[in-house]
Amino acid sequence: MPASPSTDTAILWFRQDLRLADNPALRAACRDADRLIPVYILETDTDPWAPGAASRWWLHHSLSALDAALRERGSRLHLLQGEAGACLQQLVAASGTTAVYWNRRLEPAAIARDRDIKAELKQRGIACHSFNAALLVEPWDHLNQQGRPYRVFTPFWRSLQPRLDSLAPQRTPSQLPGLPRRRGHSLQLDALGLLPEHDWDAGLHDEWQPGETGAHNRLRTLLERRLQRYPEARDRPDADGTSRLSPHLHFGELGPRQVLARIQQHAGARRSPGLVGAGEQYLRQLAWREFAHHLLYHFPETAERPLDSRFKAFPWRNDPDSLRAWQRGSTGIPLVDAGMRELWHTGWMHNRVRMVVASFLTKNLGIHWLEGARWFWDTLVDADLANNTLGWQWTAGCGADAAPFFRIFNPVTQAQKFDPDGSYLRRWLPELAALPDKWLARPWEAPAAVLAEAGVEPGATYPRPLVDLKASRERALAGWDAIRTHN
Ligand code: FAD
Repeated sequence: MPASPSTDTAILWFRQDLRLADNPALRAACRDADRLIPVYILETDTDPWAPGAASRWWLHHSLSALDAALRERGSRLHLLQGEAGACLQQLVAASGTTAVYWNRRLEPAAIARDRDIKAELKQRGIACHSFNAALLVEPWDHLNQQGRPYRVFTPFWRSLQPRLDSLAPQRTPSQLPGLPRRRGHSLQLDALGLLPEHDWDAGLHDEWQPGETGAHNRLRTLLERRLQRYPEARDRPDADGTSRLSPHLHFGELGPRQVLARIQQHAGARRSPGLVGAGEQYLRQLAWREFAHHLLYHFPETAERPLDSRFKAFPWRNDPDSLRAWQRGSTGIPLVDAGMRELWHTGWMHNRVRMVVASFLTKNLGIHWLEGARWFWDTLVDADLANNTLGWQWTAGCGADAAPFFRIFNPVTQAQKFDPDGSYLRRWLPELAALPDKWLARPWEAPAAVLAEAGVEPGATYPRPLVDLKASRERALAGWDAIRTHN
């Protein structure tokens, strides 16, 4: 990137890149500007995918951490709320700024908004500089041999692998330019109203440390304690075997190039083939994140509509009571309920359980995948339009490289295989904890005496199953038969 001409005062617009390290926009602004205003704008637009409640909780704490990090370096975070273009124009006018720097976002609404903002600023003679902080490789820069987007993961990953060695993260700038004296009024963080009015966030506090330091702590835990056994443990909801980096990656408190570099360094330094293999498995998962972002960029309509157009005619059911039972973790199917309660309490759910609850909603209950995607959007701390869209469309069978529709996860056998001693189920469903392992994942089949001894009263202490798994599976397959011949 050629050096830009030196600028008096610049704005650094933070968005989903809430970090100082490996932040190309920040580095370029520090290089070019004498004075710098780091700003975050809480947008008040009508985007249906504006951050949900759990994301807003995270954002509050992440902005607080970012502000503290900036203050340690003699700067501070300027906070605004409103329509982003108008806020930037006001800030430009108040401070006499001549250049604005940001890292790109690739969600459809953000692309359209950025394009308009860039045009307006340029018209007023303000230079705009944008960079890649969020991805290993941007979507237009990684196409198949025919120059088209990949729609299948394995070839996408194979062609990405040789490129990984050339991707190095950038260092944190050693110094930040000071703030200009004139810059207008900044809101207080509390005034953004990001925290919930009702006190439901205690579980989130216990589980997470939003911000760059929290992200690096998680990364360290991954390297020191989890990576070696990641290939076996990553599929086990009872094992705490994954990195839990997803919210940090979503908010850009840590970038994928930083994760890549640390994994390569760690595995290389130990010279252990097992660790190298585990590192590769981990990077493969990280590549699913890339794949999801590339897909959303190339197929922007998929946040709302199925990639496989045959699914437009799928006979989804409108069943608000079942949807509510699913959301509350009271379907009477233990693995589904455990996952939904984990989500509500911690803002996160294990990937395998996400697949199981999504399969149950779309296939056993026959409810549209968008209903599930919207609930996840509001309750996940890692809610991410690209990953969420891919996850839901993949599980529903209508996305890229999707699980075939007839693959319907059986929540009983999934629990028996991936939570064999029932510790995950017992943790989230204490009312079933005294059941013997044999019946824990399917209490409706347990003999009455066993239930009585465990203190389980079907329909009173724990719900009866909302649907019969076998019959609902047959119904889903009939729905699939009805559409699969359509083009
Ligand atoms: P790890 O196993 O440690 O993986 C490392 C990183 O790789 C993750 O942090 C994530 O960034 C990426 N990753 C791993 N698996 C996937 C995947 N299948 N798709 C895309 N990226 C992946 N992930 C989100 O970040 N936000 C979402 O909103 C989201 N919604 C989902 C909805 C459904 C229905 C499903 C099935 C999956 C969804 N996922 C989503 C993907 C996945 O479940 C999470 O990324 C993962 O559970 C996060 O935990 P982790 O960081 O411990 O993962």
